[in-house]
Amino acid sequence: MTLLTFRFAPSPNGELHLGHAYSALLNRRLAAQAAGRLLLRIEDIDISRCTPEFEAGIVRDLEWLGLEWEQPVRRQSEHFAEYRAVLDRLIAEELVYPAFMSRGEIRAFIADTEKRGRDWPRDPDGVPLYPSLDKALPMKERKRRIAEGMPFAWRLDVEGAMVRTSKDLSWTEFTDETMTATRTVAANPREWGDVIVARRDIPTSYHLAVVLDDALQGVSHVVRGLDLYSATGVQRLLQDLLGLAPPRYFHHRLILGPDGRKLSKSFKDTGLAALCDDGASPRDVQRLVGF
Ligand code: GLU
Repeated sequence: MTLLTFRFAPSPNGELHLGHAYSALLNRRLAAQAAGRLLLRIEDIDISRCTPEFEAGIVRDLEWLGLEWEQPVRRQSEHFAEYRAVLDRLIAEELVYPAFMSRGEIRAFIADTEKRGRDWPRDPDGVPLYPSLDKALPMKERKRRIAEGMPFAWRLDVEGAMVRTSKDLSWTEFTDETMTATRTVAANPREWGDVIVARRDIPTSYHLAVVLDDALQGVSHVVRGLDLYSATGVQRLLQDLLGLAPPRYFHHRLILGPDGRKLSKSFKDTGLAALCDDGASPRDVQRLVGF
């Protein structure tokens, strides 16, 4: 029998707060109930924002909470060559294209379109979808721009990808934290448009690294916040394109701040280190997040 495998996968670009504590504790509880495995994965592909200090802080806070996880810990920044190999496959299969528009150019293009009375589509986070101009660039022009050293990112051709994938793209979602019942959710990757799959200098993005690592590490259950619920659609598409077996998912409730909004890394008062400094105990943290 294969063991059920859970993971907690923070990004070391800030300090852990109560929302992370809930996620980590829930993963621990579910892994323990299933007599399964608990992994910690450090998602540090954004080398401009992730630091060893934040990573050390994450480990310290999780240890303080009493969590234990398997060694060695997978640190994504140590696996760029693996991501590169998969990216090369996507490039060879023409599932991704180099996107050259800068943020300013995208903004100007969209403002211009909206001035003419056409609402530009936005993704579930409210970010305008990437215009399709670069997708239509002839190969020669793409090569010329790359050779010239023009900055670009690799974006998924979501329409092209949808044509090549199975028609009924869906995932299995548990209905609550008891993980007893599931429902099937239809994936809608189109709502994100042509997402970034890699950057010129970093051969992966969050979406690509997360699906590869979950598969590689044998993660059977992805338990994470509801803020990543609809991103799962993009991840299902990538899994399908890459022939990876999808895990099952549970997207848990978010711990909200005193103002009723999602916690962010800038909320000092709900940071685990700050709570610890103020004399809170790990048990207090568990109570605060409803355990
Ligand atoms: N690294 C992501 C974050 O810190 C979580 C990724 C995931 O759980 O899929 O938000």
